[in-house]
Amino acid sequence: MPTGGAAEVELRLDQRPWTTLGTNETQMTFSDEELTRYARHLVLPQIGGQGQQRLKAARVCVVGAGGIGAAVVPALAGAGVGSLTIIDGDTVDLSNLQRQPLYRSRDIGEPKAALAAQFVRRLNPFVEVRPIERRIDKLNAPDLLAGHDLILDGTDNFATRLTVSDAAVKLGIALLSAAAVQFQGQVGLFRGKPCYRCFVGDAHDTDDCDTCVELGVLGALTGTVGNFAALMAIRMLAGAGDDPAGKLHLFDGLTGEWRQMRLPADPGCRTCGEQRSP
Ligand SMILES: [Zn+2]
Repeated sequence: MPTGGAAEVELRLDQRPWTTLGTNETQMTFSDEELTRYARHLVLPQIGGQGQQRLKAARVCVVGAGGIGAAVVPALAGAGVGSLTIIDGDTVDLSNLQRQPLYRSRDIGEPKAALAAQFVRRLNPFVEVRPIERRIDKLNAPDLLAGHDLILDGTDNFATRLTVSDAAVKLGIALLSAAAVQFQGQVGLFRGKPCYRCFVGDAHDTDDCDTCVELGVLGALTGTVGNFAALMAIRMLAGAGDDPAGKLHLFDGLTGEWRQMRLPADPGCRTCGEQRSP
C-alpha cells in the first residue's frame, strides 16, 4: 500500500505485451502529493503503482476539444496521464455549451485548445499540457501527432477522422476513435490492423460536414461516450484488463445498451492493407 512515500510504490515490471509503452518509464517515482492524488487508483490491483507509473509516462494527443474531448480531457488529466496534447482550431460557440462542460458562457469566442489546457493545469499540475490552436489536416497531421503513445480522436467528421487515422497508422501510434451523434455512440481502439479506414472505407474522405449541426446530439451522450473512451485509453495505457484493440463498441442512448463487435481488417485497405500507398 502506498502509505509511506515514493519508495513504497511498486516498481515491479510486468509488461503487458500489448501496451504501447516501453519499460523505462516504469522507473518513475511519485511525490507524496501524487500518492494522495492517485490513492484511489493505487489501491486498485489492476492499476496499482505500476499502472499509475505507466499513466504518468504516457503521452496522449486528444484531437478535438468538443463534446467528446470535453469528457476525455478531464478524465485523463485527473487520472494522471503525464503529457496531454490538445489539438483544436475552434473557438467556443454558444451552441457548444449544451455538451462541452469544459467551457463557460463567458468563454464564448475564446480558443478551445487554450481553455482546455487551462482547465488541465488547474485540475492537475502534474500533467504537462500542450494546446495546439490549429485544425488538423493532411499536411500537418504527421508532425502534430508524432511522438505520442496514443491518439484519441473525438472530432466530428469522417474526413478529419480518416486523416488522423491514416497518419496514426503511418506513425505506428494506437488510435482511439470516439464519436457521438443523436443518441448513438461508438468507440474503437485501432492499433495496426484493422485501422479506422478498414471500418469506414474510402467514401468519406471529402465528407467534412459537421454531423452534430445537421443531426443533433444529446449532451449527456457525448459525455458518456467520451468517458468510455477515456476508460479504454486508461486501460490501454495502464495495461488493465483485456486488450481493448480491434473491437468496436456501440452505445444506444435510447435503450442504454452497449454492444460490441470485432472488426475484421480489410486486405484491400489503402492505409493498412497489402496495396497500401507508400
Ligand atoms: Zn485499414
